[in-house]
Amino acid sequence: MTFCGERMNKLLGKILSAVYPEGITCYVCGAELDPRDERDLSICPYCLGQFKECADRSSEVLSLYEYESVRDIVINYKDNAKSYLYAPIARLMVRYFAQNPLQIDVVCYVPDSKKNARRRGFDHMELIAKEFCRLTGLPLSKGLKRTSNDVEQPNVSAEERFNNVRNSFTFSGNDLMNKSVLLLDDLVTTGATLSACKRALGSSFPASITSLTFARA
Ligand SMILES: [Zn+2]
Repeated sequence: MTFCGERMNKLLGKILSAVYPEGITCYVCGAELDPRDERDLSICPYCLGQFKECADRSSEVLSLYEYESVRDIVINYKDNAKSYLYAPIARLMVRYFAQNPLQIDVVCYVPDSKKNARRRGFDHMELIAKEFCRLTGLPLSKGLKRTSNDVEQPNVSAEERFNNVRNSFTFSGNDLMNKSVLLLDDLVTTGATLSACKRALGSSFPASITSLTFARA
């Protein structure tokens, strides 16, 4: 199945107004939402205005926001047990996707290590990807797995980072043959993790892989 942005924009409006008729408070600051606010996102205009869009579209990786401007929402989601924040993050990614049309057949996500998923109680990108797929109608592939507990290390050079993470993922499943894949992650820094994922996904011969992240550091 292929979905293009224009059709999706119309559908998205219908879905969002049916599923989220009333946002009540802003997910970020807790302020009560005004009727004119963007209730579909449940983020008030002030908080949304603080999110700094990534200007550079030349990168291989598409990203919505500069990390510093969305750091609080990302950290609250991943590390402060606010698992419900998957919803506004996913909805912002769907909105970006609808505004920047791409031909996509299937969605994948960068999975958590088992250790991190246990600590959080959920796989943070799995929740986002499921919501993304629910809203877009695109199928979700869960075949990408993390085989090591590798995590981002602050004092490691980009080259070391690429080598460390290179073989950290496997893909099981052959359902990507000739398909256009959208690979979702929350944050891109060196790009090493996304490269390693693309390498693993390549084993099932997709036609293309486009990476989309919520934030860029
Ligand atoms: Zn707010």
